[in-house]
Amino acid sequence: MTRKLAAGNWKMNGVKASLAEAKTLADMFPTPTIDILLCPPATLVTAMADVLTGTKVSVGGQDCHMNTSGAHTGDVSAQMLVDAGADYVILGHSERRADHGETDAIVAAKTVAALEAGLTAIVCVGETLAQREAGETLDVIRAQLAGSLPDGIDLSRLVVAYEPVWAIGTGKVPTLEQIGEVHDDMRATLTARFGGGADTVPLLYGGSVKPSNAAEIFATSNVDGALVGGASLKAADFSGIVSAL
Ligand code: PGA
Repeated sequence: MTRKLAAGNWKMNGVKASLAEAKTLADMFPTPTIDILLCPPATLVTAMADVLTGTKVSVGGQDCHMNTSGAHTGDVSAQMLVDAGADYVILGHSERRADHGETDAIVAAKTVAALEAGLTAIVCVGETLAQREAGETLDVIRAQLAGSLPDGIDLSRLVVAYEPVWAIGTGKVPTLEQIGEVHDDMRATLTARFGGGADTVPLLYGGSVKPSNAAEIFATSNVDGALVGGASLKAADFSGIVSAL
């Protein structure tokens, strides 16, 4: 059976005091039936892992370098995230693709590095509004999956997140039909490339997920969870999404 995952992406938000939200969330779900994850900025990974020790909420990074060490000022390696207490890393988020020029090939190399370090990689794909309006959505997603996922990947440590760029932080959400169409196509694309084991890769939807729309999104075909930005910052909001899964 495919694991269910509610993942929070704090992006460049949060200070030490925000860790109280993480603890509050963990205390609300002492024995969850799904996987729960928070990905704070790199500066807070260690402290969050400490705060969440003994709880059922995991910690992840928001990016890692493709190399294991060396002269890469400002970067963090996958092994450093493990060392800090992380079990997951988000890779290829559209904000990193846009802000840092990350290509599919770079995302694939980072995915290899993340898996070699022992992390589970959450690889993000998604179309822009112009691409959707041009009817290119499925082609764009297929190409991103083809380029961003390395051959021979350990499927048990792969999560894929579909995040339409135009839905992130905008309050705009695709129709359930549009989400289901992409998720069904992603499942078929992964199965065609990797075989039956791809059935168990969790497929997350991301982009303006809130407590009020989470249940209907989670009821959509091949949606196994969510990657949540704004609504993951407060335990009161994120708990509503976790409960809906
Ligand atoms: P949002 O962000 O929930 O604030 O739209 C989602 C994401 O970028 O992961």
